[in-house]
Amino acid sequence: MSPPRKPSLRSVLPSRGKKLLGRPGEFLVSEAIRRRPTRLVMVGKVGVGGTAPIMVQSMTNTDTADVLATAQQVAELHRAGSEVVRLTVNTREAAAAVPKIRARLLQMNLEVPLVGDFHFNGHKLLAEMPECIVALDKLRINPGNVGKGDKRDEQFARMIEFACRHEKPIRIGVNWGSLDQALLARLMDENARRPEPKDAPGLMREAMVASALESAARAEALGQPGDRIVLSCKVSGVQDLIAIYRDLSARCDYPLHLGLTEAGMGSKGIVASTAALAVLLQEGIGDTIRVSLTPEPGESRTKEVVVAQEILQTMGLRAFTPMVVACPGCGRTTSTFFQELARDVQTHVRERMPQWKLSHRGVENMTVAVMGCVVNGPGESKHANLGISLPGAGEAPVAPVYADGERTTTLRGENIAAEFIRIIDDYVERKYPKHS
Ligand code: SF4
Repeated sequence: MSPPRKPSLRSVLPSRGKKLLGRPGEFLVSEAIRRRPTRLVMVGKVGVGGTAPIMVQSMTNTDTADVLATAQQVAELHRAGSEVVRLTVNTREAAAAVPKIRARLLQMNLEVPLVGDFHFNGHKLLAEMPECIVALDKLRINPGNVGKGDKRDEQFARMIEFACRHEKPIRIGVNWGSLDQALLARLMDENARRPEPKDAPGLMREAMVASALESAARAEALGQPGDRIVLSCKVSGVQDLIAIYRDLSARCDYPLHLGLTEAGMGSKGIVASTAALAVLLQEGIGDTIRVSLTPEPGESRTKEVVVAQEILQTMGLRAFTPMVVACPGCGRTTSTFFQELARDVQTHVRERMPQWKLSHRGVENMTVAVMGCVVNGPGESKHANLGISLPGAGEAPVAPVYADGERTTTLRGENIAAEFIRIIDDYVERKYPKHS
């Protein structure tokens, strides 16, 4: 009998995730993350909740009435990875533009589901232009500003009637900036009669959850099927968001749309969104996410899509594009060469991904390590599918390359970057089966 085979280094290293059979691009949630069971809602051909992967969505910031600019931005967001795109439908011109935007996207061969974001006048716009709802895949209704006073219930009912007639799903999207004032007043009265009344933040959280659940119950009573309802309760405070969604998820099985509203610009927006979403996702809460970043002047709107994907991928919840692991660099790296190599590798895999996704199954699970010296370089490189350990200060000017944990070659000279990128391309060709 032959001796038992020694386990390879890769087989004993902690897994970065395990693929779920039959669900391309998705990682099986680890033992540490169990998705909360929810109903499956279909938005066009994209599933939200149930066993569907956590979906990434975004929203345009163009004037919806500008058909060309909006269709162009929807296309950019979709190509960046937004699986559903929302647009504001705030005027007659915007409602009239929606079918034209849909037509233009179809001309571009893009079948991205579109969500119409409606507020005070949605019931009028849809009555005047029913072709608008035909071109949409979901309606977002804010129960706090669907109508004022006596008109609120009637206008909410009209919106639900349109959704039912056209068999469209809805998102009941509560926002703390436009919380239903009548409901808040009722809860304040009830709270005052409690032996131990809640404080103001606690009452606000309770009102957000109540607004979402009561609106969903009303929509169902009006005929909207429960498997065509998604809920969200957005606030701008991280702790508030976590508390609200924990409560909401414990009290219903509608799929939940997660997002921190008014997250802000730059690193603040990214950090705040990540902090809030990561806690909830780790608890299995959340079926679709949007990262609401304010772009810097001139910055692409697609950044919010990349951030949303990176949150899911770094948590091991989904895989979208090969991950490049790079050390931060330190005094042992005396040039910027390794920073440039990390950037070039990252850019290369992102640029190649649209084609690889079509041609090479599973390539999104690949990891590539770019390390600055021998301290952690060989070890981290062995953990990755492919790795390169560049020479640090005082080290021999050679760069060992590792594939699947084994040292395969050593690069030296002026063309290390170009040669390593060629090695990446060859590895993809060899390791990831071509789609038939
Ligand atoms: S791997 Fe080397 S260069 Fe990179 S941070 Fe660690 S010690 Fe510094």
